[in-house]
Amino acid sequence: MSQYDYDLFVIGAGSGGVRAARIAAQHGAKVAIAEEHRVGGTCVIRGCVPKKLMVYASQFSEHFEDAAGYGWTSGEATFDWPTFIGHKDREIDRLNAIYIRNLTNSGVELFMSSAAIEGPHQVRIAMEERTVTARVILVATGGRPWLDTTLPGIEHVVTSNEVFYLKRQPKRLLVAGGGYIAVEFAGIFNGLGTETTLIYRGSEILRGFDDELRGNLRAEMEKKGVDFRFDTIFTNIEKRGEELLATTRSGETLAADAILFATGRRPATEGLGLDAVGVTLNERGAVCVDHESRTSVPSIYAIGDVTDRINLTPVAIREGHAFADTVFGDTPRKVDHTLVPTAVFSQPELGTVGLTEEEALEVYDAVDVYATSFRPMLHTLTGRDERTFMKVIVDGETDRVLGVHVMGHGAGELAQVLGIAVKMGATKADFDATVAVHPTAAEELVTMRSPTRQLRREAA
Ligand code: NDP
Repeated sequence: MSQYDYDLFVIGAGSGGVRAARIAAQHGAKVAIAEEHRVGGTCVIRGCVPKKLMVYASQFSEHFEDAAGYGWTSGEATFDWPTFIGHKDREIDRLNAIYIRNLTNSGVELFMSSAAIEGPHQVRIAMEERTVTARVILVATGGRPWLDTTLPGIEHVVTSNEVFYLKRQPKRLLVAGGGYIAVEFAGIFNGLGTETTLIYRGSEILRGFDDELRGNLRAEMEKKGVDFRFDTIFTNIEKRGEELLATTRSGETLAADAILFATGRRPATEGLGLDAVGVTLNERGAVCVDHESRTSVPSIYAIGDVTDRINLTPVAIREGHAFADTVFGDTPRKVDHTLVPTAVFSQPELGTVGLTEEEALEVYDAVDVYATSFRPMLHTLTGRDERTFMKVIVDGETDRVLGVHVMGHGAGELAQVLGIAVKMGATKADFDATVAVHPTAAEELVTMRSPTRQLRREAA
């Protein structure tokens, strides 16, 4: 009989923690998991899933307008926020229940409580006011929205945690930040009919993405009505009655019904007792781990956003699965963090995998860029002025495709499939050898014959 109460105690029942717990249990481990909020974590409860439902909701305004070009007449379309939020909440409840069922069906013991580490093998379960022991502890607590608490009036803003539960749809929304969340929610609220202004400290949205892709997306979002203010930040926020008044560094005062701060997320390590037990954190507060997700304390592991590697749900799931296979399944597995495809559910959507043009130029001497921009077929009849953009980055010496970047309908779906080809090491010749699917937008990816530009590094 084991000297511990559990073989594995997981703290945090988000996507990564749940996967680790279930797989470890399938390998025969006695597993417990603690969750202080709701099982499912950020992605399911207040992230990817409800966000995507909101994206769908917001796209109907254009669908109704576009239908006229195809001969449809419809009455005046109106959107009811409480109805949508109710339906969305029901779906999230359903998924939450499935997650709980999957855990319990796998034999995992669930504690709806916060938990803290008291020693290399000790976990304190707050609600039960008791300490249990485990051979291995897994920290899978994810991240939390970060706010600049020195900003006067910061208490009046909401983050991505609260935006899903607003009582009323704001008529005017200010969004702070230029990353995934800011861009996605600017598109959502704009589509729902909210007057939306995005305030960003840099000069272009989505730092880190391909520059041309960023510029194209911003231009499309502007056409749809999102107002951008670059190179500025909020300096003060005041509440006057029902209205919020925000002052920016550039001296403007903007009025709004709600302000969404999407200025990044930070690893959720507070109150976990990691310091006391000797788990090393980096300067951003993330748990430092090795390639097997082991921390500086051999019996404590960490996966997902709390480790701040690549903060995406599927990566956390991979890390959780690999951890469980390695530690409990006798199958050592490393997670490959290269060439991870990703989508931004902006409007239009982005899908991307591999190097940006700027990154490729830093590494390769010869880079060929194939790029195209066109009006998608759907809009030939709707008359909507919206462009699709596609770009393939190729190593000019080996012909290998280094990156693909797409803006347009279904770009996220495309990124998934393009990810396979790029991960397999496809060359531009492989793309060219693939017969087009017609009529699709994606056929452009295999029919771009001549490079748009050939960039060569000057010989030193
Ligand atoms: P990001 O890191 O993507 O963006 C944060 C934004 O806030 C950046 O534009 C950043 O500017 C800005 N910012 C940071 N600090 C300040 C400050 N002090 N004042 C003003 N602006 C500031 O974070 P998000 O919150 O948008 O998203 C968090 C993470 O969640 C993402 O990185 C992603 O991993 C994940 N996510 C993934 C999604 C998807 O897969 N579709 C969707 C949503 C989230 P700067 O660029 O100058 O640093």
